[in-house]
Amino acid sequence: MKEIEWSNLSFGYIPTDYNVRITYRDGQWGELGVCEGEYINLHMAATCLHYGQEAFEGLKAFRGRDGKIRIFRLDENAKRLQASSRGIMMAELPVDRFEEAVLKVVKLNERFVPPYESGASLYIRPLLIGMGAQVGVKPADEYLFLIFVTPVGPYFKEGFKPTPVCITRQYDRAAPQGTGTIKVGGNYAASLVAGAKAREGGYNAALYLDPKEKKYIDECGPANFFAIRDNTYITPVSNSILPSITNKSLMRLAEDMGLKVERRPIPVEELATFEEAAECGTAAVIAPLSHIDDLDENKTYRFSENGKPGPVCEKLYNKLRAIQYGDEPDTYGWITIVE
Ligand SMILES: *Cc1c(COP(=O)(O)O)cnc(C)c1O
Repeated sequence: MKEIEWSNLSFGYIPTDYNVRITYRDGQWGELGVCEGEYINLHMAATCLHYGQEAFEGLKAFRGRDGKIRIFRLDENAKRLQASSRGIMMAELPVDRFEEAVLKVVKLNERFVPPYESGASLYIRPLLIGMGAQVGVKPADEYLFLIFVTPVGPYFKEGFKPTPVCITRQYDRAAPQGTGTIKVGGNYAASLVAGAKAREGGYNAALYLDPKEKKYIDECGPANFFAIRDNTYITPVSNSILPSITNKSLMRLAEDMGLKVERRPIPVEELATFEEAAECGTAAVIAPLSHIDDLDENKTYRFSENGKPGPVCEKLYNKLRAIQYGDEPDTYGWITIVE
């Protein structure tokens, strides 16, 4: 293997030694298989190709100062994959099988877990796809669950710095009663155009509004939204956003730091009152926002004047990272150590 420069990793794909797979056939899940190949042999009429029967997950493993490998809240990812499966009528993988597969694939690829000092981590990507051939619009009768891993760098190359996003009204990533609450590839396909346009305009992402009324903040392409005001952590409730495990964890930490937590619809105009605003998700943990441009209304909402993240975002970020890397005790039972 070519030497990996741990401190120079980006958020991209680097091949590792093994992936793991479980097939669902004849009404049951089979044995966990270990695979070296990076390809899938797939029927051309598989439902994942034609009818979008595909869901995925994303989580990370961290190497601590003590050399141990820690995985963050994998039971939450297992349960969310089950919810996604129910949402698009795929077979549900039991939580213990998901956990077993994650632990196995990380252990097998142990040498790709970046060293503590690099600030990098091992990204874990579980995937569930409909494999059975169907021509009529029906769920498949066969499924493949697989997990690959790849080492990824810290999300912020130049450090933890605020970036801008723009509000989009022209596009929705999900419908009001659609698939926004589950982690399926279809939502991502629907978000590609808006995301590309936002980046062309110099923004890090598009910020979606609720698809029904376009009055309230939903979330960014791949990350939830939260804001800070008057010692309160405020994050949207909506039936078209994905329940982020990072957001859920931050709400808990915020509460324990003495902040109030509010989960409710957030009208766009309220942006003008926030002291801090940020995106959150597994990839970045927290990505603070410098400002939000509302191009249709010709308005800019600013959250950072000096190019620095706000104090609450920074505190939450440091706290969560410290738990993930094992620098602080895991008082919540969020960590699974890979033995
Ligand atoms: C995965 C995802 C997130 C972040 O969820 P985490 O569990 O925190 O990684 C946020 N929004 C969308 C649309 C997602 O797909």
